[in-house]
Amino acid sequence: MSAEEKLNNHNLDDGAGERAQVLELPMPDDFHVHLRQGPMLQAYVRRLAATCGRALVMPNTEPPIASADAIVQYRCKIEEAAEIGFVPLMTFKLLPGMAARTVDECACAGALAGKYYPCGATTNAADGPRRPEDVAAALSAMEAAGLVLSVHAERPGAPAFQREKLFLPTIDCILDTWPRLRVVIEHVSSRETIDYINSRPDRLAGTITAHHLLFTIDDMLGEGLDPSLFCKPLIKFEEDRGALRQAVFSCSPRFFFGSDSAPHPVQAKLKRNAPGGIYASPTEIPALAGLFEQHGALDALPAFLAKNGAAFYGLPVTGQTLRLTRKRWLVPEEVDGCIPLCAGKELDWSLETDGS
Ligand SMILES: [Zn+2]
Repeated sequence: MSAEEKLNNHNLDDGAGERAQVLELPMPDDFHVHLRQGPMLQAYVRRLAATCGRALVMPNTEPPIASADAIVQYRCKIEEAAEIGFVPLMTFKLLPGMAARTVDECACAGALAGKYYPCGATTNAADGPRRPEDVAAALSAMEAAGLVLSVHAERPGAPAFQREKLFLPTIDCILDTWPRLRVVIEHVSSRETIDYINSRPDRLAGTITAHHLLFTIDDMLGEGLDPSLFCKPLIKFEEDRGALRQAVFSCSPRFFFGSDSAPHPVQAKLKRNAPGGIYASPTEIPALAGLFEQHGALDALPAFLAKNGAAFYGLPVTGQTLRLTRKRWLVPEEVDGCIPLCAGKELDWSLETDGS
């Protein structure tokens, strides 16, 4: 049977017609998460550490993580907050005029990536660069040090559904100007960007969230308005979701999991001018297991969650295992003061520790 046939025919029958009750996965990595600072940090870290062994932590806190000292302090806080065994992978925020020396110091402090937030593109991005030239010295230093450039690839101010597509010329410019720089387009949301990544050299990759794989814009506003699904980039259309699913179900090494889990308190999400962001950590892995199973693609889940990203970042696969059990449960409306991904929906897979 070819790999493709196996993918199409895969199911959880154990040969005797019984569906397996346990799903064992290599411990997932989350290559894009927001853990915030302050009193809720511990809850967010522990929630994430229940299903992910490592995570690339975004630096758009207030104040931003933009120096070696800030990286060391933030990593310490996260490690203190975490249960044993969780490894935070650190990033720094690219600020206009950032010196090459600052980048070198961040690399020495263990940063794996620098994050490019176009000015005004999303939460806490008012201090970001307006164009790549604003951070040219830093990008050259990152290229020399072998750091990954992680990009929020949306053009601020453009029509909301076109922001991602209209940022692709800027990615072209970065790839051409820094020919050895490895680049990740974060939270890919559109068919155009999937096609674009596939058409460019393999030093360009993309992260994909659970919510962009699960939902379309109709889930957010086709019936009652669901503000918990408002995020940047916006969840898009059926054909976009189809292209994202095809990319991950086919095990393409160019795409890997980055949840963009971004907790905002319930009250903030329900206000006018609510921030974009979905609290995905509590449910993302069980929800993805259900989606991949539904589409006969469970074979592709380990590559998406635990192998492709590690390979791109040059990290070993962790060797730990995550066990899910087949137990239907109703996702509560609120977790850690936030509306979790899939709130009010039933999921088929539970964390093994959910038995209590
Ligand atoms: Zn993010």
